[in-house]
Amino acid sequence: NENLINHKIVFLGESAVGKSSLVIRFVQDKFSLSQEPTVGAAFLTKKLKVDDLNYKLQIWDTAGQERYHSLAPMYYRGAAAAFVVYDITSMDSFERAKKWIEELKKICGEEIKIALLANKMDLDENQRVSKDIALEFATEKNLQLFETSAKTGLNVRKVFEETIKILPKT
Ligand code: GDP
Ligand code: MG
Repeated sequence: NENLINHKIVFLGESAVGKSSLVIRFVQDKFSLSQEPTVGAAFLTKKLKVDDLNYKLQIWDTAGQERYHSLAPMYYRGAAAAFVVYDITSMDSFERAKKWIEELKKICGEEIKIALLANKMDLDENQRVSKDIALEFATEKNLQLFETSAKTGLNVRKVFEETIKILPKT
């Protein structure tokens, strides 16, 4: 008799920052350097246990929103959390992440928990976005920053676990 707490989590960010790779690393514990580009939106579900509570996550992996000026309601409707991803080797992707966060805050207000994911940490020899700038932004916007790598798995599970801890328990 399982008591599952359901939450929807949406991934946003510039294309090729590693959204799909992070979802696949978390759900299937796999990684591919030739990850297929996502078409439209897709969601995967994953069950996990945090602090003795059982969760069922509906994880929305998105693509193509880059073209639109605002976020389509289907992405954020009912979402408890949003993971906004950038690639540490691309300043453009960081600028884009900032825009997504502004957009989310405008549309969802305090209703949604946002985490900023600095992905591709395994490529830190080519890091263009310093941790200092990212932290400054995250602190100003009152969000958590996580340094991740879909390739090595660095902090991938942690992002989900830490976020779940601050979500409603119903
Ligand atoms: P998306 O468009 O945001 O969904 O990005 P993808 O998940 O399709 O990834 C784009 C490319 O970056 C693919 O070639 C991935 O293999 C690669 N990639 C994703 N995450 C990482 C990472 O953490 N490290 C490295 N080195 N490559 C990554
Ligand atoms: Mg994708």
